[in-house]
Amino acid sequence: MINMILLGPPGAGKGTQAELLVDRYHLPHISTGDIFRAAVKEGSPLGQKAKAFLDAGKLVPDDIVVGIVKERLNQPDCQEGFILDGFPRTIPQAEMLDRYLAGADRQITAVINIDVDFEVLIRRLTGRRVCRNCQAVYHIVNKPSQKSGVCDHCGGEIYQRQDDAEETVRKRLEVYRDQTAPLIAYYRERGKLKTFNGEEPIQVVFDQICLALEEQNG
Ligand code: ADP
Ligand code: ADP
Ligand code: ZN
Repeated sequence: MINMILLGPPGAGKGTQAELLVDRYHLPHISTGDIFRAAVKEGSPLGQKAKAFLDAGKLVPDDIVVGIVKERLNQPDCQEGFILDGFPRTIPQAEMLDRYLAGADRQITAVINIDVDFEVLIRRLTGRRVCRNCQAVYHIVNKPSQKSGVCDHCGGEIYQRQDDAEETVRKRLEVYRDQTAPLIAYYRERGKLKTFNGEEPIQVVFDQICLALEEQNG
């Protein structure tokens, strides 16, 4: 069973690795950022609540995020494993997640911590592009699409996220340092943390993650 968390600062490569992991392990990919962006686009009540936080590069309040994740983890497709991407992002979120899973006789099996230097993150985030349709992740230099502006997977339009503007990127990295980085110690103390050098090429990081998962699962 793989109940995995992808942990790391914005731009570390969580979404990129999630795409590859989904292909290999066929697990549902739960990205809270994708859920919020979809809600904002729809203009649903959730989107209306979340929009100001996303635009400012701040975290959506814990109770809102946790409610959404619990509902998602309750779905039948998550009973055989899942990949959490961008959640938890605060200690209270992690505590609520642990309590919720324990109540259902489940637990997190691996926390994949992807480590990247802040200067590299700024270049990655300001050069990131995303498919509007399938959320596939690209980079103008590191991972361009074959045809400019068009998604390799689905032919969708590739765009730049509003919160990937440099000023918001700096704010998000600050928020990571203050509110999310403490999760590294939280999961290390619980014996779940595996750390990877996220500055290696995408495929190298992926191979190392797979190796660690397979060692663990025998
Ligand atoms: P990135 O992949 O660049 O780190 P995400 O797509 O994960 O960014 O998140 C985008 C935004 O969505 C965050 O800046 C925040 O406003 C909101 N968000 C996503 N996940 C969470 C979470 N677990 N808790 C609070 N806010 C979140
Ligand atoms: P996160 O989900 O952690 O915010 P992404 O997966 O969206 O990060 O990656 C951020 C940007 O960095 C994207 O433009 C992606 O193409 C690029 N990227 C991801 N992993 C690597 C890597 N190992 N080397 C170089 N660029 C990468
Ligand atoms: Zn696409």
